Amino acid sequence: MYHSSELNEAPVVAVAHGDGIGPEIMTAALDVLRAAGAWLDIRPLEIGEQLYRQGHTSGIAPEGWDTLRRARAFFKAPITTPQGGGMKSLNVTIRKTLGLYANVRPCSAYAPYVATKHPGMDLVIVRENEEDLYAGIEHRQTDEVYQCLKLVSRPGCERIVRYAFEYARANRRAKVSCFTKDNIMKLTDGLFHQVFNEIGEEYPEIVQDHWIVDIGTARLATRPEDFDVIVTTNLYGDIISDVAAEIAGSVGLAGSANIGPHVSMFEAIHGSAPDIAGQDVANPSGLLLAGVMMMNHLGQSDVAQRVHNAWLRTLEDGIHTGDVGAEAGIGQTVGTCAFAAAVISRLGQEPQKLAPVRYSANAVLEIAPVVRKAPADRQTVGVDLFVQWRGGAEDLAAKLKGIEGGPLELKMITNRGVKVWPGGIPETFCTDHWRCRFMNGGGSIDLNEIVALSGRAVVAGVDFIKTEHLCTFDGEAGFTLGQGQ
Ligand code: NAD
Repeated sequence: MYHSSELNEAPVVAVAHGDGIGPEIMTAALDVLRAAGAWLDIRPLEIGEQLYRQGHTSGIAPEGWDTLRRARAFFKAPITTPQGGGMKSLNVTIRKTLGLYANVRPCSAYAPYVATKHPGMDLVIVRENEEDLYAGIEHRQTDEVYQCLKLVSRPGCERIVRYAFEYARANRRAKVSCFTKDNIMKLTDGLFHQVFNEIGEEYPEIVQDHWIVDIGTARLATRPEDFDVIVTTNLYGDIISDVAAEIAGSVGLAGSANIGPHVSMFEAIHGSAPDIAGQDVANPSGLLLAGVMMMNHLGQSDVAQRVHNAWLRTLEDGIHTGDVGAEAGIGQTVGTCAFAAAVISRLGQEPQKLAPVRYSANAVLEIAPVVRKAPADRQTVGVDLFVQWRGGAEDLAAKLKGIEGGPLELKMITNRGVKVWPGGIPETFCTDHWRCRFMNGGGSIDLNEIVALSGRAVVAGVDFIKTEHLCTFDGEAGFTLGQGQ
């Protein structure tokens, strides 16, 4: 941990002015940060529309990565993502390439200055940013069935959960809630929940609870004031952070951080708003609040606090851009530049009615690196053979009985996860995608047994699509039962 004044050199910050309203709101945000005394070594970085047009399908030039790798922070205005044409989302590419594992999104109400049904709402969502269904590993398996792999790693869970607890501790937040669906996804979401419990033990002063994501989201949407910090996996986090921003009434005001071990990225949650670009009407608040998060991250919490309080005071004084004013129906509507000037003129002031923010110097988080566990004793005990088949379960079982051999016996067939053999019932709807489980009666098997089984399947005309090995790890099953098994 350090404070900027203890450093000899200003932290290097890559700044992208982006597309649409990006240049206007970035200029406004930087003007405010500079006026508040931000100490930054700014390196401009061109990304977005122009780069896509030049043929860079990720929206960034190769040399852009060098700028990012040398920076401590990346302050990014929104960009326009061209539709189709093989263009890839720059945000996803940057997150994955730079290992930005934690997506942090505060969602606060600013009632009555911004209309909301939940004036007491003040929560932060910490979303895992790299894993889960967002690995993008998808396959069409049969005529009828498509698959997306959900990957969850222990180091990935440990890193994000520890980040959430450290964030709560540094920002004096009292509770961390974990959202998963581990009643259904017992291994993947189960791991996330288990790691939450394990790491939570190191933070006894913080209240901890776990919610199944469906009822948790319902509660979040109706009683957001019950939550403080929420930590969750990538997909649920993506959904609930939009729910939370929306009910706070402040989608246009929300900033977010994408935290990585080397560089971290800070941006508004809204897009490039091409419909209002170049008109000096855009609200720079989302980007400015992302800038506040960045100043905290860089150890300049004094600057972060000054800017945030001046911004709250501006809001409280009824000065706002058209998007917010339309909702609140109070005060004076101004343009982008005038709004930034209003914030600058209030630097050093605090809000009188809204609660002023207090940032401590230890808002800079030092996250202990993940210590990887020693490899487990892994034993292969069987195999799931996935098969395309248009007939019924009994006929398929009869065919598969014919390829049994060595220690591998057919134990179960499922269709879309539900057991249909032995003892299936005719009401179960079946697709053309079958999971056929072969297991050893006891103990482990040689991998050659799986190769031999696959070979017999080919000879017998079984249309198998893939195999998934069944393993135990230190004696614990690394696979789930079929539904109804
Ligand atoms: P958008 O967020 O740009 O705009 C939605 C609506 O909100 C528009 O009516 C817009 O005028 C308004 N709005 C957004 N920000 C505002 C602000 N600061 N002040 C006042 N009004 C504001 O969403 P969209 O129209 O779906 O997307 C436009 C482009 O932005 C697309 O190309 C999309 O891919 C891109 N996008 C980029 C990012 C990013 O860079 N992080 C995020 C989302 C969307």
